Amino acid sequence: MKRLLIVFAFFANPAFSQQVTCQNIFIITTDGFRWQELFTGADSAIISNPDYVKDSAALAYMYGGKTPAERRMKLMPFLWNYIAAKGQVWGNRNYGNNVSVANPYHLSYPGYNELLTGFADPQMISNRKRNNPNSNLLAYLNSLPKYKNSVALFGSWKLFSYIVNGSVNKIPLNCGYQAMEEDSLSLTEQAVNYLEQTSENNGAPTRSDLLTFALATEYIKKNHPHIVYIGFGETDEFAHHGQYDNYLNQANQFDKFLAQLWSLIQQDDFYKNTTTLFITTDHGRGRRPAKWTTHGPFIGGSDETWMAQLGPNIPALGEVKQKIDYTTEQFAQTIAGYLGETFIAEHPIAEPVYSFFTKKKN
Ligand SMILES: [Zn+2]
Repeated sequence: MKRLLIVFAFFANPAFSQQVTCQNIFIITTDGFRWQELFTGADSAIISNPDYVKDSAALAYMYGGKTPAERRMKLMPFLWNYIAAKGQVWGNRNYGNNVSVANPYHLSYPGYNELLTGFADPQMISNRKRNNPNSNLLAYLNSLPKYKNSVALFGSWKLFSYIVNGSVNKIPLNCGYQAMEEDSLSLTEQAVNYLEQTSENNGAPTRSDLLTFALATEYIKKNHPHIVYIGFGETDEFAHHGQYDNYLNQANQFDKFLAQLWSLIQQDDFYKNTTTLFITTDHGRGRRPAKWTTHGPFIGGSDETWMAQLGPNIPALGEVKQKIDYTTEQFAQTIAGYLGETFIAEHPIAEPVYSFFTKKKN
């Protein structure tokens, strides 16, 4: 009954009936990247702490600045120059613009489960390798004739294959240090396979984001899937290791991935002007300078996230400063709505964020 009500509310909302849709969705995440760095740039207290940074002067030169606006522009120039001009950025808590995970655990698996299933299932507690019993948006879209065999997921973290239950949901997946296996591999794919085989980290749960990016973009160019998920992981890895320098460099690298991806999209007739980027993270981290490395249910700030989006159906609102409270669990139905679809599952699905659907057809 609850589900019927949600479906009814979805269609009954006038914003939906006239909304502009997109043809393709790329969902991009970078694991455990804090809203604090996204909106205010490098934290000077952490930069100057030798426990976390090898060369504070060099890092201050790269990412330092007098104002938050100056610092964040240095850290993520594509996001702040381009996405903030043509799209939207949500989650600056300094304005009460709050984006949070709904699950109480503030760990990765529960966060991605929530994002992809629209349901902050209290049973998804840990990062244990367990096939997710909840059906997810990617598998749902793949079940529709329009998107059949046109969905793909690339993840740096091995656990993505469990989170989307890859053994049951046969969508193309490539996660962790997994080789690309196809009949005809491009030179790039062969090179990535070789780098994976010979990497000293092969077998680690998280693959280098650069390799994930290379395989994902190669697949996109070859196969043109309508629905793509790319999950990057090294922001979280470096943070857990207490390496603020590498954490910031990886955020900067993530920004470059976004720029390259958008450039690829806009140069390809299949994707150009019909593709939306939906960018977010799976959890926050400690808000106190001494706790930034970690996250979890008892670390204050770990539920605090953010979201950015860019595409033909996204009005150019820039950095949104309105007081709101949205949760990651609302994003699955929101994304389905961008495609003009309604995500249906056996579990309750959180309502979409109606205020994201503000661009109406003329
Ligand atoms: Zn995580």
